[in-house]
Amino acid sequence: MLNMNDQETYSWQIDLPGFGEREQAILRNSTALVTRVGGLGGPVAQSLAAAGFGRIILAHKGNLRQDDLNRQILMSRKWIGKSRVDCATSTLNNFNDDIEIVSHNANVNDENIDEIICGANIVFSCAPLFNERFTLNSACISKNIPLVDCSMYSMEGRVIPIIPGKTQCLRCIYPEDPANWKRQFPVMGAVSALVAQVGVIEGIKILTNFMSPSIGNMISIDASEPSIEKIKLADKNINCETCNTLMPS
Ligand SMILES: [Zn+2]
Repeated sequence: MLNMNDQETYSWQIDLPGFGEREQAILRNSTALVTRVGGLGGPVAQSLAAAGFGRIILAHKGNLRQDDLNRQILMSRKWIGKSRVDCATSTLNNFNDDIEIVSHNANVNDENIDEIICGANIVFSCAPLFNERFTLNSACISKNIPLVDCSMYSMEGRVIPIIPGKTQCLRCIYPEDPANWKRQFPVMGAVSALVAQVGVIEGIKILTNFMSPSIGNMISIDASEPSIEKIKLADKNINCETCNTLMPS
């Protein structure tokens, strides 16, 4: 199922108990959408490239700023002022030129999501704002695509694996945009990278059926302790407008 190049490249990963050539071939044939390539999305995309995802779609609007550099590990100081997705694409292609990167210099919104998500088998939401996270949630529910919602604040992070029809969606958990959520918040780059890696591991489990993804749970990460714990979520919210109106019958 795998060519000799992939067998060699991923030989240490294929050695994992329960993860073999079949699972590696699933990743090779998978497309992941990663929204934003910053403190969360950058390390997510890097680890997806390392794991051997065949195609990665990136979406992030705007140009690199100096104050991005404490956490946006796909960037470089010499690229300040350049498009973040172009920088991320260059770094990822340099790391692994055997994968396809599709980049959009745009943040997802209700107008562009159908184009950006096209072909994705899984979505990693690494957007800082709830309007983007809700857009991704709605698109994934309506198109039956698994969503790994990653978020962080200061020394804490959350990863929520969302399987349409099986788990709560983001709107079941957050019916409204939390009023106190701000665009800019304290970030230690190592903490956003930690949250990102937990998200990638869940995504690989979901796609390949390797081990047991934390379906129906929120993974709560507190780097100050440090602790990583699973918090069981309630069943789907029967009043959730997204689940009730967008879920395919
Ligand atoms: Zn819902």
